[in-house]
Order: sequence, then C-alpha cells, then structure tokens
Amino acid sequence: MEMKKETKAINTPYQRRDAYDALQMPVYHALAFEFDNADVMADAFCGRTNAPDYSRVLNPTVTHFEERVAALTGAKEVSAFSSGMAAISAMLISTARAGKNIVSSRHMFGNTFLLLTQTLDRFDVKARLCDLTNPKEVESQVDSNTCCIYLESITNPQLEVADVRELAKIAKSFGIPLIADTTVVPFTQFDAQAIGIDFQVVSTTKYVSGGATSLGGVIIDYGHFPEISKLIKKDSVFNLGAYMTPHVAYMQTLGLETLKVRYDRQAASALEIARRLSSLPGVVKVGYPGLENNPYRKLYRELYGEQGGAMVTFDLADEEQCKTFINSLQMVHRATNLFDNRSLAIHPASTIFGPLSPETRRAMDVDDTTIRLSIGLEDPEDIYADLEQAIKRVVE
Ligand SMILES: *Cc1c(COP(=O)(O)O)cnc(C)c1O
Repeated sequence: MEMKKETKAINTPYQRRDAYDALQMPVYHALAFEFDNADVMADAFCGRTNAPDYSRVLNPTVTHFEERVAALTGAKEVSAFSSGMAAISAMLISTARAGKNIVSSRHMFGNTFLLLTQTLDRFDVKARLCDLTNPKEVESQVDSNTCCIYLESITNPQLEVADVRELAKIAKSFGIPLIADTTVVPFTQFDAQAIGIDFQVVSTTKYVSGGATSLGGVIIDYGHFPEISKLIKKDSVFNLGAYMTPHVAYMQTLGLETLKVRYDRQAASALEIARRLSSLPGVVKVGYPGLENNPYRKLYRELYGEQGGAMVTFDLADEEQCKTFINSLQMVHRATNLFDNRSLAIHPASTIFGPLSPETRRAMDVDDTTIRLSIGLEDPEDIYADLEQAIKRVVE
C-alpha cells in the first residue's frame, strides 16, 4: 500500500518478528549476537549478510531507526550516529583527504565551524569559507582539489538561506557532492534529492528527538557517490566508533512518529509569535523565514515548504538588554537546544559562540544584540505573554 509520510513514520515494519510479536521494535540492549555455525558467522562478519554481530557496527534497533528514516526520505542508505557532530565528522572524514579543500561558509554551527577550520585543518584539509548565497563567488572557490560543497539549509543564528539548486549545479559540474546539514528543517518537510542534495547530515537531537530525550545524528545518503557511501559504512561507522546506541534509537524512533504533528504546531506558533514580536516596542528586528517581509521567504518556501519552522530570532538594542531579557523570563527556559517540546531562549553571542574571539564572531555575523528562540508545544498565548513581559522589563 502507498503510504503518506505521517503513516510511514508510524507503520514502517521491522524486519523480523521478535519472539513475542512485539508491536514496537524491541530495544536490543545486547552487545553481541550468536551464530549457528562458523560459516554464517563468517558471512556476517565479512558483510555478506546483514545479520548483526556486534553492536558498535550493527544493532537491530538502530537498523530499524535507519530504515524508518530511509522510508521517509527515499534515501538509499541511512547511517545513525551518537550525535549530530558524530554524523557530520564521519561524513566529512569519508569525503575529504589530505590536500583537498571544502567549500563552505562562515555562517555555520559553532562546532562544525571549528571542525572545518581547526580539526580537519590539522589533517591538511582546508576550509574555503565564502558567501554561499553568491553562486559566482562559490564557483570561483571550487577547483580540482575541492572534495565537496558543504552548507546548512538555514543558518543559525543568521537565518540565511542559500539557493541549494544553484550550488547543486556547481557541485555537479565539478563531479563533487553537495552535502547539507538540514537539522533546522525536518527531512519530512521537503524533498532533499529533488533540490540537488547528495548527502544530508542531521542532528536528530533536535526535531527528531523532540522531547530532548537523547543525542543523535544521521547521514542520509542518496547513493550518488558509491565510493563515499562505502567509506561511511565500512570506514567511518566501524573505525570511528560513534554508532548510535539501541536505547537512543528507540527514543528517536518514538520521536519520528510524532515529528509531523509537533512540527505543524511549533511552526504555527512560531509564525504567530514572530508576527507579534515584530510590532512590539523595544524589538529592533525579528528574523523568521515565514514572515512576509523576510528577504529569504520566497526562496525558503520554494526549497523547504510553506511553514517557517520553530526557530525565531529577534534583536534588542544591546547586549545588556539581551541579558536583562534572558534574566526576566518566567516560563521560557534559559537553555540551548532547538525544537524541544519546551520553549527555549538563548543569547548565542555570549554562550554558543562565547568561546570564539569577538573578531571571529563578527566574521560569522553573530551579533551581540540577537536572542534566539526555539518555540515549543506550549499554548502560544503563554509563550508570547512571557516574552512580552520580559521585553517590557528591558524597555522600562
Ligand atoms: C545542534 C546542531 C548540530 C550538532 O548536533 P549535536 O547532536 O549536538 O552533535 C549540528 N548542526 C546544527 C545545525 C545543529 O543545530
């Protein structure tokens, strides 16, 4: 039966009935698996069958989570990791080698920025950081030593959207993959392959887990670069040892089942709140790709669908006001994370990007005046009321 995504998220069956016909995929909290004889054992260890042997490389509960993500995205292969950063580093290690360069942007999740500019740099992989919204500039940076173009679907906290389709054309003309961190828009909301993405990397810690239950990450591989695919599974999963654990896979599978309803609710609340914040005295500007006056609204809709997601930023006059705002919140939580069931607020410049130098922050366009919100599942009236009273304290 042909199923829509919401149905698939819940009804993707697991491969083999368990001994008790459990309705849900059981959590196989087992490290090792036994074999009937030497031959089937050798076949499993040499990858000639996909029977699990050892839970650092294959676990049935994790496999089931990977299969559900594949069912929702149409991917050829999905690999699950212990965090978003584990997925991103495995992806880039599988793609790059000494002497190569990666064309990317300064508008980047903090740890990815450091992975590119420090960790990989030590292995002689160079980051070429440019303006990904300017295809001409990107084209001028790519050369025969470029191993991939890497971008984030919508950057955080700058909320910048590059035209993935243009970048895909450039990548294609050089025969290299376009790799996108699409954490900020759930993979159920758009067709990554149709807009030209070859590999998606996602921190499933965020939208997929939902209730902030667990860290996780996936590489969603559309099978366009078989040599890289082979390295992801055989090299990075096995040798780097950051495969997802079974209990996490269980929690993340539950998260997948409710992803769409949570997203719909959070995105609707976020739009409402972004609109109301826009006309509140004291708020200098609001960043939200669903707002009518947002410069990326049209492009964002074309790429990622009608809804603008649950991340909203706004600016106050200065850093002092941002701190007063954060300190005045009564319900919205002072915490990092995105797309939690609870609403969260953070001042990115002094926290996530705090360890970087002021010059680096400026180069990354992380402003001292910006607050980032993640809108949760609470009643939107309550969320707005808390934001409003905290902003009133600032302008008093
Ligand atoms: C959170 C996040 C990551 C890192 O994910 P972890 O699961 O915390 O390792 C990477 N990219 C983006 C866009 C994120 O928001």
